[in-house]
Amino acid sequence: MTLNLTHRNRALCFVLIISVILFCFPRRLSARNLPDEYTTKATQTIKVSNATRHDFSRLVDVQLGSHVSGVSELKRYLHRFGYVKDDGSGSSKNFSDVFDGRLESAISLYQQNLGLPITGRLDTSTVTLMSSPRCGVSDTHMINNGMHVTARYTYFGGKPKWNRDTLTYAFSETHKLDYPTSDNVKMVFRRAFGRWASVIPVSFKEVDDYTTANLKIGFFAGDHGDGKPFDGVLGTLAHAFAPKNGRVHFDAAETWVVNDDFGSKVAVDLESVATHEIGHLLGLGHSSRASAVMYPTLPPRTKKVDLTVDDVAGVLRLYGPNPELRLDSLAELKDSLRNGGVSERFLSGNVTGYALLVVLILFL
Ligand SMILES: [Zn+2]
Ligand SMILES: [Zn+2]
Repeated sequence: MTLNLTHRNRALCFVLIISVILFCFPRRLSARNLPDEYTTKATQTIKVSNATRHDFSRLVDVQLGSHVSGVSELKRYLHRFGYVKDDGSGSSKNFSDVFDGRLESAISLYQQNLGLPITGRLDTSTVTLMSSPRCGVSDTHMINNGMHVTARYTYFGGKPKWNRDTLTYAFSETHKLDYPTSDNVKMVFRRAFGRWASVIPVSFKEVDDYTTANLKIGFFAGDHGDGKPFDGVLGTLAHAFAPKNGRVHFDAAETWVVNDDFGSKVAVDLESVATHEIGHLLGLGHSSRASAVMYPTLPPRTKKVDLTVDDVAGVLRLYGPNPELRLDSLAELKDSLRNGGVSERFLSGNVTGYALLVVLILFL
């Protein structure tokens, strides 16, 4: 009895310590990819690459009520990602070039979802983010999810998930890349799946049979028959479907790279996008926290593969914890703890995993 009480007190202690750290160092947890950093990188991208599909830079500071060429394209972009309803004619092609009240509301919602200051105006940071390459999955699920005080993760409508301990995955034999090599692509996906498997009680197994695998990975170009055509270099990078569909498609027109081979100005890190899309395959929607893997945009030549507390909290709430969940799988949190002066050894082991889980569920 006394022993049990001691254990409980210890666990409570862990919870309190981690809570205080989370409370005291919230900025550190998202310090790697702040919106400012995004802005700088994405702006450079627009300057160096006119191949970017959605370059709205000429729309910066366009005012409500004005009529400017390009506004209709912006409306189509916002319509595509769930922010603007069509005008009732049944076709999004009929959008006008007038900056109207509906567009202002859509911009406000976009800013809210992507963690920007909500102004309803086309300021530089908003336009830059809209011009940045992004995931093709619509943000509609973010709009209906509501926002928790601190958590920014979301789910698809109805919160679909898999009910299996092991998910098989396979690569399409017909829709694949010449470069990077098959071996490199497989290695990248093994690492990406491994990150999610380290925090939830689900394992991933590669199989040869594409048709029967739970998760189907392929590289497609342009219109490929699922109503979500790809758009060439940059723009939309990839999309995945909610459980239990299992399909994930990558735009074959991108300059996909592995192992930080960022020579090209339009290079896109395959591992970063794969880690993000696997989040969708598991049932996570987009997060409005810029540092999260599940944030919708990813500038070229950027590596973003470490799961953040926000990503982990989201997926834990769907699947529960991996019994062997350790701080090692949370590099970001580990850094915060180290900088906060808390001994890593003191916090290692399974007890920590469960204490951490309690914190995540209570506070995120
Ligand atoms: Zn996405
Ligand atoms: Zn597709």
